[in-house]
Amino acid sequence: MRVDAHKVDAVVIGAGAGGLCAAARLAHGGLHTLVVDDKNRLGGRASTEEIDGFKVNIGAIAIEFGGVFEETFHTVGAPLDIRAPEPASSFFIDGKVIDVGRGGWSLLLGQLTKQASRILEKFADARSGNLPDGRQSTEDWLKGYTSNATVHALFRNLCAAIFACNAAELPARAFLTYFTSKGAFKRLGLFARARTGVWSSIGLPRQRAGDIRLRIPAKPMHAATDT
Ligand SMILES: Cc1cc2nc3c(=O)[nH]c(=O)nc-3n(C[C@H](O)[C@H](O)[C@H](O)COP(=O)(O)OP(=O)(O)OC[C@H]3O[C@@H](n4cnc5c(N)ncnc54)[C@H](O)[C@@H]3O)c2cc1C
Repeated sequence: MRVDAHKVDAVVIGAGAGGLCAAARLAHGGLHTLVVDDKNRLGGRASTEEIDGFKVNIGAIAIEFGGVFEETFHTVGAPLDIRAPEPASSFFIDGKVIDVGRGGWSLLLGQLTKQASRILEKFADARSGNLPDGRQSTEDWLKGYTSNATVHALFRNLCAAIFACNAAELPARAFLTYFTSKGAFKRLGLFARARTGVWSSIGLPRQRAGDIRLRIPAKPMHAATDT
């Protein structure tokens, strides 16, 4: 497909959460915006696939309230159909339900390891800006305080669920920054419908200022500079 540069003010490559939010804001600002994506569906890593006639949500599940995502929907006047579960997060560990919203980390870790206070001290350090070296992984950082298998499983689970990567890969600095500054566990919502429905609601056609083309890969372009 060729895009007529005279007819489009902005081209956004990728119809994931980032691209669609950026495009919605551009279109809302009056720019004629084209979004292209190489997949055949909206949403990128937060999407819905149809399998055997069932709609199956893939990728992102929980949406944080109060962030730029929610703000974008408000800004462009699109409905954001996400619902807050109560409690926001609870863990079922060794036969006990732990509601981390009430008591957070101290309650959670206190039930699992005698080293909880050492880990919590490091959380307090992180809150005041004292963070580990950016090269240390979350797994290695945690090993410095406990070898408790359940605690390690919990951190692995959080790394996978929130950051979509392994505890051995995620820098402890990123983990601690997120969990000490974002009020984790507090205000999460779940998509009420298939995610593609959410993406359609923020989509450009409703703003009459753009277009979305699927199954269109953007190719790298090389420009030679004069010497
Ligand atoms: C299993 C899993 C669970 C997750 N859970 C959560 C969660 O609960 N809460 C949360 O907030 N986040 C979660 N995340 C993270 C979240 O899904 C991503 O951060 C977010 O969806 C990324 O959006 P994006 O627009 O940056 O990228 P993407 O969603 O990856 O979108 C990029 C799009 O660009 C397209 N593209 C790339 N290159 C080209 C090209 N050359 N031409 C055309 N198109 C191209 C891709 O096909 C893709 O559709 C999870 C991620 C995973 C994988």
